[in-house]
Amino acid sequence: MADANAAYYARGDFARDFVTAPELTPVFGELLGAWARVVWGMLGAPADVTLVEAGPGRGTLMANALRAFPQARGRVHFIERSPALRAAQQLRVPEALWHDELATVPAGPMILLANEFLDALPVRQFVRRGAGWAERFVEDGVYVEQAADIELPDAPEGAVREVNEPAQAFVRQLAARGGVGLFIDYGAATGAPGESVQAIRDGAFADPLAAPGEADITAHVDFAALTAAVPTQGPVKLNAFLTGLGLFQRTDQLAQRHPDQAFALKAAAQRLTAPEAMGRLHKVLAVCPAEMPTLPGFGT
Ligand code: SAH
Repeated sequence: MADANAAYYARGDFARDFVTAPELTPVFGELLGAWARVVWGMLGAPADVTLVEAGPGRGTLMANALRAFPQARGRVHFIERSPALRAAQQLRVPEALWHDELATVPAGPMILLANEFLDALPVRQFVRRGAGWAERFVEDGVYVEQAADIELPDAPEGAVREVNEPAQAFVRQLAARGGVGLFIDYGAATGAPGESVQAIRDGAFADPLAAPGEADITAHVDFAALTAAVPTQGPVKLNAFLTGLGLFQRTDQLAQRHPDQAFALKAAAQRLTAPEAMGRLHKVLAVCPAEMPTLPGFGT
């Protein structure tokens, strides 16, 4: 499935299939930029900071974030492998520097933003078989199983467990560098996900095994596994986080200045916070050094 998703993002037009928070309203990126600016201040406002975004999509989030964090202009690094999306990002943030992975971003103080990035990384699926586990693969469009040597908590026969090794490796690498990262993604705050791999095509759920590379394949993020791996704050629900950062006040300000867009701006703020839309399943997790004081949006 990993290759299928790389092929999917290589097409560069994911927005046809699903809408993400930064594409819904400019306020989302602005609030994240304001968050990053405050965190930068907490770090002592280092001049050599890097503002990194993992999986920047069309570059919309960063373009809006920089308006609220102008000190980071010229210090932007994007982690993106899709050439088509790199081209889209360059239109919005021409000054950015691109990387295939976190490892090549220059050393120094780092603030990293990532919206719907971890869920796009490939998961391994395991099925409980007898006293052990079998790994489930896709071969020629069908599932096959192969006995696996992996330690997972006991589960009933046939139960499916997903392990996102690249996501865990990513947060470990960020923590090892002493960076501060903000991850917005969907998944339960506690408990391991069962089977959550899903495909979205043209705005509707699709069969993950059909037409590889033409649908976006994602899995719920296992936040419990991430908080067990590295020092974190949260996860908190997206609606609490955004409301605390002033989503509605900023939306009203913009709406007053641009009356023609008022309806769309307010509808977007509702969609980001409504429990049945993105407000509840979407979570925000910060990865940061254990000694960091409470970050904006993570207080009670
Ligand atoms: N953050 C954007 C896009 C989300 S889609 C938004 O919210 O609109 C997922 C993004 O992650 C895409 O930009 C995709 O190309 C990128 N991506 C997926 N797997 C990746 C990987 N292994 N390395 C780097 N980027 C990856």
